[in-house]
Amino acid sequence: MNDDKTLKQCPFCGGDAKYEQDLRFEKAEESFPKWFVVCKKCGAKTPVATIPQVRERWNKRV
Ligand SMILES: [Zn+2]
Repeated sequence: MNDDKTLKQCPFCGGDAKYEQDLRFEKAEESFPKWFVVCKKCGAKTPVATIPQVRERWNKRV
C-alpha cells in the first residue's frame, strides 16, 4: 500500500492542489466520502469521494 498523500500539480495550470472537504458532513475520517481535491490556482476539482479515491483520480489526470 502506498500511503503517500502527496498530490501532483494541477494538470491544467501547473498550480498546487489541496484537499478540501464537503462541510455539510461533520465526520472527518479520510475514509468518509466527503473529500475532493481542488487546484489553488485555477479551481479545477475532482468529484467528492474518500481521500484515497480523490488522490488517485487527481494524480492520474494528465
Ligand atoms: Zn489548476
